[in-house]
Amino acid sequence: MLTITDALKKHLKNPELFAQLVTLAGPDAGEGSKRFAVHNPSTGDLLAHLPDMGAGETAATINRAYAAQELWAGLTARARSEILWEWHRLILEHGDDLAAILTAEMGKPFVEAKSEITHAAAYLQWYAEEANRIYGETISAPSNDRRMLVIKQPIGVVGAITPWNFPASMVARKISPALAAGCTVVLKPAEQTPLVAGAMFVLAQKAGFPDGVLNLIYASEGDAVGRELCTNPKVRKISFTGSTEVGRLLMRQCSDQIKKVSFELGGNAPFIVFDDADINAAVDGAIQAKFRNGGQTCVSANRIYVQSSVHDQFSEKFTDRVRHLHVGDGFDPDVAIGPLIDTQALAKIEAHVDDAVGKGAAIRCGGRRVGDSGTFFQPTVITNVVSTMRLAQEETFGPLAPIICFDDPDQVVREANDTIYGLAAYFYASNLKRVWKVAEALEYGMVGINTGRMSSEAAPFGGIKQSGIGREGSRHGLEDYLEMKYLCMGGL
Ligand code: NAD
Repeated sequence: MLTITDALKKHLKNPELFAQLVTLAGPDAGEGSKRFAVHNPSTGDLLAHLPDMGAGETAATINRAYAAQELWAGLTARARSEILWEWHRLILEHGDDLAAILTAEMGKPFVEAKSEITHAAAYLQWYAEEANRIYGETISAPSNDRRMLVIKQPIGVVGAITPWNFPASMVARKISPALAAGCTVVLKPAEQTPLVAGAMFVLAQKAGFPDGVLNLIYASEGDAVGRELCTNPKVRKISFTGSTEVGRLLMRQCSDQIKKVSFELGGNAPFIVFDDADINAAVDGAIQAKFRNGGQTCVSANRIYVQSSVHDQFSEKFTDRVRHLHVGDGFDPDVAIGPLIDTQALAKIEAHVDDAVGKGAAIRCGGRRVGDSGTFFQPTVITNVVSTMRLAQEETFGPLAPIICFDDPDQVVREANDTIYGLAAYFYASNLKRVWKVAEALEYGMVGINTGRMSSEAAPFGGIKQSGIGREGSRHGLEDYLEMKYLCMGGL
């Protein structure tokens, strides 16, 4: 039997529903004898034991999704939309419990978890509406005895793999366009954060999705499940959010079947403050872009470039704000920064700080882990940074803000572009000519201009270069789950 501990139950308004959540999460979930544990990264408490599913269970689950495909695609768009609407309603109704599960398994502050649940629900709402707007085309034929049309059809079974840093919104962002398009889904959430996905799936079942349309795989690691999803010919598309390294591996595994892929991968976002910027607004934006989710976001401001004439003013104000960010358990209402996800993440941030300091950088605040146990790290500002340091070249994925001083506005854009990644970039400026020039020159899929926050269900989220393939959100996100078919009717 599955075990849910009191350490999790005590945070829930409706613990019985949660106990039910896990058993309902998938027909294959209770089979086999292997189990894996999920822990709270703030306290180390054991939250649950889950079945550890492998390639065989994944193949069985793919068969279920494949069998349900015809029925789901055959429903009217309006019928699919109504079920998505109901799921959206249930997620908002149980928002507090979903957020509590999220904070318990991932560590982020409860207010951020609540906002993530609302954001996840917004994707369901968007694609419940978008389901009704799948259009084809008619084409003017070269002769009158012919008619030429384009229709859109669901791509088929989708294998979805999600990361731990936004365990609810990444699930909704992938699944809702796939379902709206008429695809069935097999999801494998990250091993660190499978519980909120399980909770969302039981609400999906209450919403009325037919059997086999939505399927969940719990697994303690990604390799075996990922390989089955990539190589099983019944899966027609892989949608993955995670590291660029795993993205490369999945692309290789999909290559034999030329399987369609959508990837949302790593980033190394520049955040540029020009001398004509509103400095207070830039400080606000940098706090948001850097420290949201403790810096564990793919769009986190990884390199903060500040023009020399405003460098000291910006650095002082920014550091002062960072000093006041409290670190601790996400259930404490005063906490702005939760724990890092694991000890490896802690080791990486420490290595980045040591490398920078060893090469001449200065710590303005923070710089150390908090306490002897756990994975808490002080929010940290480092100046005198140069672009050859590790923290400027690699995605740190933690509460570490490096500030790089620059003089030449053209050179800083070249430096900002000098990375394999191309996900998000930000800049603050007021001169309109500069705003257009820099926005066009930055080689990124998304550019925030005088804002540190830009993710929205209404906009296409995604990257260029080695940050990904495809877009999620907006009407463009739906296209990734549709095939285009050209019909030519002759003899008329
Ligand atoms: P990760 O790549 O290690 O893991 C992501 C998912 O892939 C998990 O579910 C994991 O179990 C699975 N996985 C791991 N190895 C696998 C394999 N061999 N085959 C199949 N699946 C496998 O990444 P992470 O550390 O969980 O997440 C952090 C990364 O995700 C960062 O690089 C971040 O930038 C990126 N990310 C990108 C976006 C985006 O929208 N671009 C959003 C969030 C996170």
